[in-house]
Amino acid sequence: MTLGKCKDCDKVGPVTSHGVCPACEETRAESFRTVKDYFRRNAGTPAAKVSEETGVGIELILEWVAEGRLTAASGLAPAEAAVGHAAQERMASLRQQFAQSTPSAPASAPAPTTSHTGMHRRSF
Ligand SMILES: [Zn+2]
Repeated sequence: MTLGKCKDCDKVGPVTSHGVCPACEETRAESFRTVKDYFRRNAGTPAAKVSEETGVGIELILEWVAEGRLTAASGLAPAEAAVGHAAQERMASLRQQFAQSTPSAPASAPAPTTSHTGMHRRSF
């Protein structure tokens, strides 16, 4: 174990080879069991849906795919097992999707109404 900053909780201290502190490593192990169990019962489920159903972060699931811990043999959708090596790209695009669907980030401010129409004056 080396000293570093935990990837999951940002705590500085001893971290495992995954870059997380022992407490988070424990949480991850628990999450992994949950996900693996979900795949066992629902083979071929898309990772995004598994993330939704189990509450385990999609990035974590994709990390396991990239590490080869989740494979088609363990119930992962074959297409996703095949793109495991491209998980980094996938994560980036998923991050974008999530960012776009966040209501707190408006894409553009509503255009100001022009004073020429005078619509609300007329409705008085
Ligand atoms: Zn941690």
